[in-house]
Amino acid sequence: ILVMYGGRCVERGTAEKVFYEPRHPYTWGLLGSMPRIDRDQTERLIPVKGSPPSLINIPSGCAFNPRCPYADIPKGGITRTQRPELTQDDSRHWSACHMSQEERTRIWTEEIAPKL
Ligand code: SF4
Repeated sequence: ILVMYGGRCVERGTAEKVFYEPRHPYTWGLLGSMPRIDRDQTERLIPVKGSPPSLINIPSGCAFNPRCPYADIPKGGITRTQRPELTQDDSRHWSACHMSQEERTRIWTEEIAPKL
């Protein structure tokens, strides 16, 4: 599975990795806004806040930063204007985010996954 945002790949991996161990905040948002057949149909979906970027005026740095709830977490001197590169997290998983892999794993495990 390839997750695209602002014309670039922000996460890539096997279905197991992307669905069960997602590493990018945009992927977390997509999973949260996805209809579930195992849930009460009256539950409202939780959309990703904000609007998609214009592809002729993509935000500098990480294109997701205007919508990302984690954009203000300090990342060792890395600024919002630096674009995160797609890097390999493990043998079948890549993601593009300035947060450390440990921090993203913690957020996913403790904050996001229990609510999905
Ligand atoms: S690089 Fe920053 S703004 Fe982009 S997804 Fe990661 S935390 Fe959010």
